[in-house]
Amino acid sequence: MAKQAKKNKELIIKGIPSSYGIAIGPAVVIKSESVIMPSIICEIDIPEEIKRFEIAQHDLIDEFTTHLSKSAKESKNVFAILESNLLILKDPFLNESIRRRIKDGFPVESAVILEFDHQKQFFQQSKDKLLKEKSFELDNIKENLLSYLRNRSVPFSIEAGSIVIAKSVSPTDIVNFHHAGVKGIVTEVGGIASHASILARSFEMPAVIGVNEVLLLIDDNIDIIIDGYSGTIICNPTPATHREYLERKSKEELHRKELGALVKLSSTTRDGKPIKLCTNIDFIEDIDSSTMVGAEGIGLVRSEHLLMALQHFPSEEEQYQWYLNMAQRTYPNNITIRVFDVGSDKFAEGMPHHESNPALGFRGIRFLLSRLDIFETQIYAILRASKNKNVRIMLPMVTSLREVQSSIELIERCKKSLDTADIAFDRHIPVGIMIETPAAALKSKDFASHVSFFSIGTNDLTQYTLAADRGNELVSDVFDSFHPAVLQLIKITIDSAKEKKISVSVCGELAGHSGATAMLIGMGINELSVSPRILLELKNRIRSINYEEAVKLAGEVLSCSSRSEVRAKLSI
Ligand code: PEP
Ligand code: MG
Repeated sequence: MAKQAKKNKELIIKGIPSSYGIAIGPAVVIKSESVIMPSIICEIDIPEEIKRFEIAQHDLIDEFTTHLSKSAKESKNVFAILESNLLILKDPFLNESIRRRIKDGFPVESAVILEFDHQKQFFQQSKDKLLKEKSFELDNIKENLLSYLRNRSVPFSIEAGSIVIAKSVSPTDIVNFHHAGVKGIVTEVGGIASHASILARSFEMPAVIGVNEVLLLIDDNIDIIIDGYSGTIICNPTPATHREYLERKSKEELHRKELGALVKLSSTTRDGKPIKLCTNIDFIEDIDSSTMVGAEGIGLVRSEHLLMALQHFPSEEEQYQWYLNMAQRTYPNNITIRVFDVGSDKFAEGMPHHESNPALGFRGIRFLLSRLDIFETQIYAILRASKNKNVRIMLPMVTSLREVQSSIELIERCKKSLDTADIAFDRHIPVGIMIETPAAALKSKDFASHVSFFSIGTNDLTQYTLAADRGNELVSDVFDSFHPAVLQLIKITIDSAKEKKISVSVCGELAGHSGATAMLIGMGINELSVSPRILLELKNRIRSINYEEAVKLAGEVLSCSSRSEVRAKLSI
């Protein structure tokens, strides 16, 4: 096992850099046991804890029931498992035991874990194979209940200025940490293109991931420094190391101030080629950061992030107010609202918890086309917010023409009913698609005849092309957007868009990578969408590039046969 950080002894640990910057502060170690065995609750809180259990149980029963009716037509095995899960979940004895444990003073999460584990032990000791199998089912139901509960639980309090050390974090955790004033994050699990990492970057929260056995390595409350540039963690830094990092931090701040001068300058290459710079935003407040850095529009609103704090899909009116607010604040620039891309590593209410392979499962446009009520509500809200003609609609996770056609038909139906009701909207609202699956890239020429624009999502495109989970640190060296196969798909997409005369941009993380700017411009990209945090840095790079040279470089890169060759060519 790796060496543990002892009090007062400097120790350097390496991980994967996932969000740039330097953070200095006390470590707050979040062990999973602290979720499992927190302090005993007061009597006054018992009814509230029982209510939380009942809500989570009710929601999970609802979810299982929905899937049960679907699977009845599709698979006997799935039907049988779900039916048995439902029976366990409704079992009066189990429910009563959980309630009793809460009444004994355990928080609901602990009560669930204790009771399920107790039951599991009983089944595991059995000689009967079928009963043994049941113990896995119990684990599955327990995890499902816990994720419902954790989604609803009040975030634990963390001192502002701390650095969180955890096994893994979800996008919702990152939002909670941001609000609590957490300065940095170190995790064992996660990928640099995971949504949690993307959020950490947009909150400017330095992060290092992929640190093996991190919970054993770092003690609670020791002083640590995390260097999100190199993926280094320094525990108990000596006064000299501390000083060195404070200096680096102030240089970093100075550099940022200097970049501020670029806001008013144009985004053009040295030889005058304009490159449109837009931003990716996750929350309404990000519009201000986007305006501050002089973005020329919003290239991607991850609308599913607007759902994070909610426990339901919002009404048309609620959504209309959000989108209208965003569209008005972006005007006269365009704003591209991507319809809810729920699923995979982005959870939303009503999504199944038990997909064994969620990235390849029920996400994005697949989910929306099976929940036309949710899809239509969102489209009505977006259409109504489009009355000033600066809104675009974007479809996520597209793999087939049928998905695009069905979505366009739905949009047309919504337009007709708004017309009938005499409600204003943009009749010519552009509808585009994310190119983030190899299928979409390879068939982009066909798609281009049906849509107004493409936006290349290199995060998912890389994940699906290289069969490497974007959120899994074990394959972080396989997940590489500079792989020639990914670059070929990007090139195919750009060429299809050019041929069919529709616009194409890149909005995945590759758009902001310092090694990719010249290559992408040389490949024919003239629009990039990145987190507001890095837009000025990107503009600075664009202003140093010569377009003719970039075209030559792109040609050379595209003829490389390995990613090491590509990386050598780009000096990264
Ligand atoms: C992408 O996949 O590259 C993308 C921009 O979408 P998201 O990261 O939200 O999946
Ligand atoms: Mg994506």
